[in-house]
Amino acid sequence: MFLRDILGQERVIGFLKQALANDQMPHALLFLGNEGVGKESTALALAQVLNCENRQPDQDACGQCHSCRLFATGSYPDFLQINPVPPSVQIKIGQIRELNRQVGFHPLAGTWRVVLLKPAETLNEEAANAFLKTLEEPPPGNLFILTAIGERDLLPTIVSRCRRLSFGAIPQAILIQELQNRQGLTTEQASLVAAINYGSLGGALAEDLMDLLAKRDQVVNELGVLQQGSTGNVLKWATEKSKKGTNLDSFIILARLWYRDLLALTCQATPAQLINQDRLADLVSQEHLLTSALIVERLGALSSLQRQLRGNFNSELTLNNFSLQWRQEGPAGVLG
Ligand SMILES: [Zn+2]
Repeated sequence: MFLRDILGQERVIGFLKQALANDQMPHALLFLGNEGVGKESTALALAQVLNCENRQPDQDACGQCHSCRLFATGSYPDFLQINPVPPSVQIKIGQIRELNRQVGFHPLAGTWRVVLLKPAETLNEEAANAFLKTLEEPPPGNLFILTAIGERDLLPTIVSRCRRLSFGAIPQAILIQELQNRQGLTTEQASLVAAINYGSLGGALAEDLMDLLAKRDQVVNELGVLQQGSTGNVLKWATEKSKKGTNLDSFIILARLWYRDLLALTCQATPAQLINQDRLADLVSQEHLLTSALIVERLGALSSLQRQLRGNFNSELTLNNFSLQWRQEGPAGVLG
């Protein structure tokens, strides 16, 4: 993995290259950002360039030397990963004690041992306190990289001993291009996958297009039920959706993308400007039945549903209100 392969994170990579050029790498870094934005890949690329025997003038690894070749095969001995060991969901104190013992020795192969703790939120309190001692007096030749979505769930004493680096959302244009290049998707398919995996290259590349299209069709059917169903069916939908483990985020995002296309059609968008292009005929027939005011209202209702579900509202009650309101405000024609 090379630093030049990390996409859409220019600020982070710029900071790291500067630290490499000045030989001033902090001993602990905290990579903050959502899933799939390149935190782990950056840790790998950084470990490789730190140990590269022939670092390039642009502060990237050479890809040719003995150390780079070991990285390429995933067998570099001084890159350690500390993760929860299933079935545990936490990093335990035993793992940290073993780590503390290991980092006391010189790196086996190169000059730097890089330790990736991922995700740092899973350090339980006991383990975090044991790790804190190492962070306070880091043995030379070790770089600790912690990853987390945000710093809220981390001990402030750990955060304060790390250099924080924030990874932003990867621009949609980059996601679309990578999906086209690596998976041969059409622009239309790539736009849909990128839209549902906003800002996350890892998420977008892991998405199965067929599954996603099936999920999208299911959401469109459900919107039809909400529009046309009996009060009983609508309330049944709300109860089903409020069950634990239901992915409401994905329902809301797909529903918003559908209504986004309907709104685009009312603004005379061309088919190429739509995300759900494969269902153009359905979009057009629905758009004829809806006023643009109602479409805007629907988009607002979906946003407010998302806000309420993320807050501490009663989710079944929230979904009941949402679904009844959706049905009541709908047009008389047949949708879905
Ligand atoms: Zn090299």
